[in-house]
Amino acid sequence: MTRLSPDFVEEMKRYSHDTALACFNCGTCTAICPLIDEHFPRRMIRYVQIGAKDRILENAPELWKCLHCGLCTQTCPREANPGEIILGLKRMVVAHWRKS
Ligand code: SF4
Ligand code: SF4
Repeated sequence: MTRLSPDFVEEMKRYSHDTALACFNCGTCTAICPLIDEHFPRRMIRYVQIGAKDRILENAPELWKCLHCGLCTQTCPREANPGEIILGLKRMVVAHWRKS
């Protein structure tokens, strides 16, 4: 069962722009992403929104597939900056690993 962290959006401000809540899950970023994954990066941003930090940690290797091409950020209609959120999630995961 996934344990939700209600303060996770706040925590993420340490690692990234405060834009995840702007996302309305349209899927444009997933359609443009060259990784050809049905749910990346939209699913990761959804996890941030709902505080599913455990899910992000479980699926952390996916984050390192990101090419940082910026296409998702350029096409996001909500200026949610998904590319920067992915980078911030990598920072969060590294900080978590260092602590554990
Ligand atoms: S394109 Fe922007 S608003 Fe749409 S799912 Fe991706 S991050 Fe969310
Ligand atoms: S920056 Fe990463 S998540 Fe965004 S489109 Fe490029 S590879 Fe995909």
